[in-house]
Amino acid sequence: MNILVSNDDGYDAPGIQAVIRMMAQFGTVYVAAPETNHSGASNSLTLRRPLTVQQPLPRHYVINGTPADCVHIALSGLLLIKPDIVVSGINQGQNMAEDTLYSGTVAAAMEGYLKGVPAIAFSQVKQDWSYLDDAMTFAASWLRTHLSHLPSRYLININIPNLPLGEMKGWELTRLGKRHPPQPVQKIATEDGAETYWIGPAGEVNDRSKGTDFCAVEQGLMSVTPLSIDLTDYKAMAQLSTQLTAQLPLDSKA
Ligand code: MN
Repeated sequence: MNILVSNDDGYDAPGIQAVIRMMAQFGTVYVAAPETNHSGASNSLTLRRPLTVQQPLPRHYVINGTPADCVHIALSGLLLIKPDIVVSGINQGQNMAEDTLYSGTVAAAMEGYLKGVPAIAFSQVKQDWSYLDDAMTFAASWLRTHLSHLPSRYLININIPNLPLGEMKGWELTRLGKRHPPQPVQKIATEDGAETYWIGPAGEVNDRSKGTDFCAVEQGLMSVTPLSIDLTDYKAMAQLSTQLTAQLPLDSKA
């Protein structure tokens, strides 16, 4: 099996290095990762400057772009093979609920999925890199059991609690929870009197009900959420199609 590994924390992050070691037991690992931290980059592509590729090791490519750039370039001309799976992460911090919209970790996986390669994004719930090896051991055991049973096309978002292996309670299929709106920005005056703003942290958890990603990790379970990328609101579409048709002046001569 050929595996493409990427992330958003950058090539030097402990998380991707752990994933590279972990995935090596499943096949040949290729790496296309950003040179620097691009957390929160979402699906952005660099379109207004060329991108450079360094190769620190055989099959390892480090690119001065976003996570989506890395996977895009790898799958659109850089790699001579088509990988069987894209694995992104493991991220320094959770990507649950609305985090998935901003996450570069999820975006790297999504870029693979968009190009027809099944993909998994891994994140650790806490940002302190604690129990990283335990998380990798648990993930590897889940992959060994389930990889061959997954459908031919999937985009899966996995969040792993920072726990010693012995305290992991298992795993659960989940849906995305919900957060409250983000925290306010932090205003900071510069020395010359100008004002700058730091984007505030994500909102507090709003929906942590049973079946959500939040609920699973709080119980010591690895959360496994299948994602779709069709943002269409079909319920609203059905509603609007009735309401709007009735109100629109369909006959332009009227
Ligand atoms: Mn990150």
